[in-house]
Amino acid sequence: MLNLILFGPPGSGKGTQSEKLIEKYGLKHLSTGDLLRSQISQKTPLGLEAKSLMDKGQLVPDEVVIGMIHSALEANPQAKGFLFDGFPRTPAQAEALDKLLAMKGTSINMMLAMKVSEEELMRRLLRRGDTSGRSDDNNESVIRARIAEYHSKTAQVADYYRQFDKVVNVEGEGSIDQIFEALSKEIDAVAVQ
Ligand code: ADP
Repeated sequence: MLNLILFGPPGSGKGTQSEKLIEKYGLKHLSTGDLLRSQISQKTPLGLEAKSLMDKGQLVPDEVVIGMIHSALEANPQAKGFLFDGFPRTPAQAEALDKLLAMKGTSINMMLAMKVSEEELMRRLLRRGDTSGRSDDNNESVIRARIAEYHSKTAQVADYYRQFDKVVNVEGEGSIDQIFEALSKEIDAVAVQ
């Protein structure tokens, strides 16, 4: 199996690049943001709880997202591999993911960490807020809260995978195709090993 984590701050382009990567490598896309938004649109109790946190730019509790990923892994026994997008976002989620994958006899091959400057992130998220309809994108203070959550809780997830030498940094500014090529090059380098 090929199991990848696409990592980076909000607005770094994970969703855009995920769509292209899953197609090229035949992976199943697991985005906790998308899974949560689907719970919200179905108005489930989990969705209602998550929405109030997401609208403030805060993280949803670890147990909630770990449970969702657990179910998604179970629901896709035939997958050739997974692309994790927006997960893990805390060291506890990373440890839980390692355990879930170990139970399936597999593991994370690499974390692709996209680097984008703070000014560029802000510009992209505000622009996305004009069209995405996402309530967490059209308010500057919510965006700042998401970036703060990233620095205080999520950035450490890269340290977790760095101890296993699994992190590769990729330039996240440039054209969509340039970034996609840079990501593909890194994946091809591990996939042939
Ligand atoms: P972005 O990467 O642009 O912030 P996402 O769609 O990945 O957007 O996530 C939107 C929101 O969903 C986050 O701000 C957070 O509240 C919640 N969320 C998504 N994934 C997780 C996760 N793994 N752990 C906790 N909260 C999450």
